[in-house]
Amino acid sequence: MTIDLRSDTVTRPTKEMLQAMFNAEVGDDVFNEDPSVIQLEQKAAALFGKQAGLFCPSGTMTNQLAIKVHTQPGDELICDAHSHIYNYEGGGISRNSGVQARLLQGDRGRITTEQIEQNINGDYDWLTRTSLVCIENTVNKAGGSYYTTEQVKPIAALCKEKHLKLHLDGARIFNALVETKETALDTGALFDSISICLSKGLGAPSGSVLLGDASFIKQARRLRKVFGGGMRQIGYIAAAGVYALDHHINRLKEDHRRAKEIETVLKKTSYIESILPVDTNIVIFTLNNKLSTETFEKKLAEKNIRASPFGKQTIRFVTHLDFNDAMLEELISVLALGF
Ligand SMILES: *Cc1c(COP(=O)(O)O)cnc(C)c1O
Repeated sequence: MTIDLRSDTVTRPTKEMLQAMFNAEVGDDVFNEDPSVIQLEQKAAALFGKQAGLFCPSGTMTNQLAIKVHTQPGDELICDAHSHIYNYEGGGISRNSGVQARLLQGDRGRITTEQIEQNINGDYDWLTRTSLVCIENTVNKAGGSYYTTEQVKPIAALCKEKHLKLHLDGARIFNALVETKETALDTGALFDSISICLSKGLGAPSGSVLLGDASFIKQARRLRKVFGGGMRQIGYIAAAGVYALDHHINRLKEDHRRAKEIETVLKKTSYIESILPVDTNIVIFTLNNKLSTETFEKKLAEKNIRASPFGKQTIRFVTHLDFNDAMLEELISVLALGF
């Protein structure tokens, strides 16, 4: 048995998901004729109370499309320094949209209305035009911390007042919602656009959906083709997404419980320097200087356990659909042994 905690993207489709994929009705999605894609887009849009959705190969594409539609070259967007759009999308903000990023230092990746307000440029010839605010929920690089709807409300109000667009990188928005017990509808009402990933905790093999109003999605759809994301009979994959939205949201709580148990065990060990609070399914911790990440990883590998190095002396575990209680017990026994 291999215990792979590198990411929640490593899951494989369940038997039932594969069956749903096998049974999918498909058509040419570039002609907008794939019934399974249309079903997924409508389902996701309805969930968040948005007019329309657009199925894309990845969350990078949904985020990058949103940035491109919401901005003009030479604009500036505001986001936290931990943001996926800034750190892990190959410099796409500047490459694809000719936009620069104003990076804020939030509280574990969460930025406040005051911080944003202080960083909106005034209307002077020599200043860059601020046009977009992007927030991430949950925040991957900050250890899965989340915003509540109440925390986002004033940000949304500020963006409206200042005529800025507000985009949500909601790769793990359902992880946030199962914790806050808030609804996708309440989230949807606050943002101009939302990207959700089906390939993370929801366990689909790939794909993300971009949500927004009809004219936004129409523009994004045109750009999706330009970016090479028109995928033809892709309903087989969309069907996995439909299945995931129907069956894999509530179970995210189990991933959070297991992550919390890992946190408890790690806190008792002697080789940990620090650990970020575990709020959802991500565990980020720093080893003390007696144990290198290489040795730690190697020892884990001997027990068929895989983790992600996440900077100097830092390791990330992500719990997911293919990490069960038996694996948790095995992991805990290895972690408790010491190194
Ligand atoms: C995974 C992820 C994405 C999208 O990644 P893809 O691999 O391109 O699907 C976007 N934002 C966050 C926070 C993520 O964790």
